[in-house]
Amino acid sequence: FRRLQERLGKTRNSFVSQLDQLFLGKKAIDQELFDELEELLITADLGVNTTMELLDEARKRVKRGQLGDASALKALLKESMLNCITAPERDNIMVPPENGPLVVMVVGVNGVGKTTTIGKIAARMAQAGKSVLLVAGDTFRAAAIDQLKVWGERTGCEVVARKPGADPASVAFDGLDYGIAHNKDVILIDTAGRLHTSVNLMAELKKVRRVLEKRLPGAPHEILQVLDATTGQNGLSQARLFHEAVGVTCLALTKLDGTAKGGIVANISRQLKIPVRFIGIGEQIDDLRDFDAREFVEALFT
Ligand code: GDP
Repeated sequence: FRRLQERLGKTRNSFVSQLDQLFLGKKAIDQELFDELEELLITADLGVNTTMELLDEARKRVKRGQLGDASALKALLKESMLNCITAPERDNIMVPPENGPLVVMVVGVNGVGKTTTIGKIAARMAQAGKSVLLVAGDTFRAAAIDQLKVWGERTGCEVVARKPGADPASVAFDGLDYGIAHNKDVILIDTAGRLHTSVNLMAELKKVRRVLEKRLPGAPHEILQVLDATTGQNGLSQARLFHEAVGVTCLALTKLDGTAKGGIVANISRQLKIPVRFIGIGEQIDDLRDFDAREFVEALFT
């Protein structure tokens, strides 16, 4: 918890300290306080809609006399933020099925931290005794293939890769084939993230998905989208694009250590209604956390 708090330092320092500053010495809740609060929440990337809803609820409670002072307002804020964060509808996200491998297709725009997140997940699952296979499905960039191989070495996991320019769907198919034949518990499939040709990219991802389904009914069990928390609203529209194309089942939000806008977690969760499964709080192999909404909000507000 301490480490999480420490890594969320930027958001804590800007958002929460400013919040405290705002409330400092204020007993009454007046219009001025609401105005300042609105600005602060939007700046923290909580999003206009989320902010407005939150403040509307606060105003209602003030009217009903249910919100006496500034500290009660702060408590409401914390509660609302927690409510915004989508609780997962199932508790088996990223859990291997009883028979056969867990097949995860990982999607996201270049640079968001996709390869790093795959490496971190592989490390963690390997540590838990699972045999993990990495599949280099981003055949568009030679560097992406190399980088995945580096993570394979680092984590002691096998990698299925072909030459740059190979058909991503056939690499995915071969990877799944190999993983099934070698009794892998988890198969993590990297995919391309070049956004300048997003139409082709989405068609490519759909094809990868179809091929996986065909090879193993039920696969891919998860489509994990990696989003960079520092990109704010931009990240949200990226997320929609991928979701519409392939149907994202869970999210990993990276670089939360590098942003003062931790409010993005609540915003993304509320807008997309897709559960955040992991958060990235640094570049190192063990800087990946299971996302726990309560722990996250506590770390921000405590
Ligand atoms: P990809 O293009 O999506 O595969 O992105 P990479 O995995 O290559 O990551 C891009 C950069 O972001 C690298 O320098 C990573 O070390 C860095 N990165 C990834 N995740 C995190 C994170 O949670 N925190 C920080 N600070 N950096 C990260």
